This record gives sequence, structure tokens and C-alpha cells, in this order.
Amino acid sequence: MSQAIPAPASPEIAVPTIPLGQIAPWALFFGLLAVIALFFVSADQGAISIPAGNAVHEWVHDGRHLLGFPCH
Ligand SMILES: [Zn+2]
Repeated sequence: MSQAIPAPASPEIAVPTIPLGQIAPWALFFGLLAVIALFFVSADQGAISIPAGNAVHEWVHDGRHLLGFPCH
């Protein structure tokens, strides 16, 4: 009763290769953005903030506690 159903032929998929020289500037850029975001979430207490005061600290305060950084 059981008949084998032939699997459909899988098409050839060409995976593009991106040279490292083209990725490196973007990786550096987004790595720098990630470090800046991590600084504001983890270490910024208002002392050396570009907008003076605790505005950035208060803005990321819940994320700070969510990630387990010591605060108060
Ligand atoms: Zn806190």
C-alpha cells in the first residue's frame, strides 16, 4: 500500500562569499556602536556623560538591572 514518493530535486544554491576587506569596516563600526551602548548601559553613572546629568542613566536603568549590573 505504501508507495515511495520521490523527493523533489534540490536546486543548487549559490552562497555568496563576501571578502573580509569589505566586512571589516562594518564590523568595526557596529562593534564600536555595541561598545558605546554597553558603556551607557553598564558604566554610565552621570559623571562623564555627554549630556550632563543622569538622563542617560535613568533611560537605561531598567536594562541595567535586567542585565545584572550593580547600580544602587
Ligand atoms: Zn538602579
